[in-house]
Amino acid sequence: MNPPPRSVVILGGGTAGWMTANLLNRRWKEHGTKISLIESSAIGIIGVGEGSTPQLKAFFDTLGISEAEWMPRCNATYKAGIEFAGWSDQPGYERYFHPFPTDVDGFTQGQFFYSTRARRTGRDVPAHPDPFFIQARIARDGRAPLAPPNFPFLVSYGYHFDAHLIGAFLRDFGTAKGIEHIDAKIASVELNDAGDVAALVADDGRRFEADFFVDASGFRAAIIEGALKEPHRPFAENLFNDSAVVTPTPLPADGIHACTRSIAKSAGWIWNIPLTNRIGNGYVYSSRYIDRDDAAAELRAHLGLGEDSEVRHLQMRCGRVERSWVRNCLAVGLSQGFLEPLEATALHIVINTAESFLEAWEEEKRDEFNEKIARRYEGIRDYLVCHYRTAQRSDTEYWRALTKHNALSDSLKGVITAWFTGADLEQEVLRQDIGKYYLPTSWHCMLAGYGNFPKQEQLKPPGPDVVQFNMADVDRFVGGCAMNFPPLSEALERLKEPA
Ligand SMILES: Cc1cc2nc3c(=O)[nH]c(=O)nc-3n(C[C@H](O)[C@H](O)[C@H](O)COP(=O)(O)OP(=O)(O)OC[C@H]3O[C@@H](n4cnc5c(N)ncnc54)[C@H](O)[C@@H]3O)c2cc1C
Repeated sequence: MNPPPRSVVILGGGTAGWMTANLLNRRWKEHGTKISLIESSAIGIIGVGEGSTPQLKAFFDTLGISEAEWMPRCNATYKAGIEFAGWSDQPGYERYFHPFPTDVDGFTQGQFFYSTRARRTGRDVPAHPDPFFIQARIARDGRAPLAPPNFPFLVSYGYHFDAHLIGAFLRDFGTAKGIEHIDAKIASVELNDAGDVAALVADDGRRFEADFFVDASGFRAAIIEGALKEPHRPFAENLFNDSAVVTPTPLPADGIHACTRSIAKSAGWIWNIPLTNRIGNGYVYSSRYIDRDDAAAELRAHLGLGEDSEVRHLQMRCGRVERSWVRNCLAVGLSQGFLEPLEATALHIVINTAESFLEAWEEEKRDEFNEKIARRYEGIRDYLVCHYRTAQRSDTEYWRALTKHNALSDSLKGVITAWFTGADLEQEVLRQDIGKYYLPTSWHCMLAGYGNFPKQEQLKPPGPDVVQFNMADVDRFVGGCAMNFPPLSEALERLKEPA
């Protein structure tokens, strides 16, 4: 086994830096590795990134941190999935829910897959995803995706949280466990004769040496690109969004739901993320199709805000570095790469990168690690591209360009072809081994959710060769299961009770 390095310096105190610091410290501390994290209070963090996948639950479980400890401190709420609205103009498909997986899906997913295939091949059977999935019902009914103790099935869920507060929480947790925290602005990176990173040098002259470095410096990518010159591969050819404008709003009077909302707009989409004290909102758009003032105006109009209400503008750099681990440096977070936030996957990749790195370090498998991370980016990228390519919207130049382009990977072409030729999509996803990025359920929900079926007038009534499921039975089953789940407000209140 490759022994851990004696010292690690992490550049960057955003969510990526603190998550990685805590994961490395947990694994390497007992071997005597000294972990230091440098960040510049003058630069600050990006301060967005408020939705997660179920990977974040696994992260807190790994560190032994309970929800009662971290959620109230980060104004966090539960997330059962994402609702997509306005992405399709097909009647009956104006919105759909992308659920996080649960074991309960095993009872209904086969029926859903069968029905989508029957409809794809011209039979008039119900094939909208929402009725088949318990998470859609949990979110719709204002419940939390928290399985009660006697519920015998696994239910995965993610969270919404305040990006600044989660960073501060992880900083306090990490420094209490011995991670050194340094406030310094790094001005240059020193390489040794072999080309490895030797030290980071601050603008006040302080010099920070280590055996190993982590670049978590955000879009600046100060070490991996700045010093080590690792090339950056942009994803602009099929992911057009490069900007965002964000602003919070107060909580609605009628309460919040356990889901992120993604609402398609003229040149992008708007997110609504419910926290316990506010709603986070942002318009992710392409500056090729709308300028920043018009984007801000569209966001304000959507939220019912006045013309002068304050907003914050951000640039996004979508793409990834060619290799995440180069010489004695690991890039993680925005310095490593960024896929636009449509499926809130950035922190998922951070956690996966840090954990895969620790395993690869032990076995000295750097090339395999880099290959695996690159494939993960491409796998998630394809799923995002599929959203835009198969959305049923063509009212603006932006949507016409996104739904028409042919910049598709072979893998995505295979998925789309399987869907539109009436083939077995589940088998195609398994054959390609891409279910580890998005499960067959996710692919089915997206493609069906946008109404990618023959037009209603082309559909024939199902004959005796088609199994017809009784939707009232499906509804009773899903609704009956969902009734066991607590109201979201009650679940959040319970977190504040003394243990
Ligand atoms: C519009 C938008 C929406 C997003 N939504 C989501 C979402 O819903 N879910 C999700 O998982 N992710 C989302 N993300 C991504 C998410 O914001 C980031 O992955 C996450 O915040 C981690 O960022 P980071 O730590 O890599 O970078 P940052 O937060 O930018 O941190 C960089 C750190 O490096 C330090 N630094 C940089 N240069 C120097 C220097 N020279 N000297 C010293 N310190 C330095 C800074 O001070 C800072 O501490 C979103 C991103 C954008 C742009």
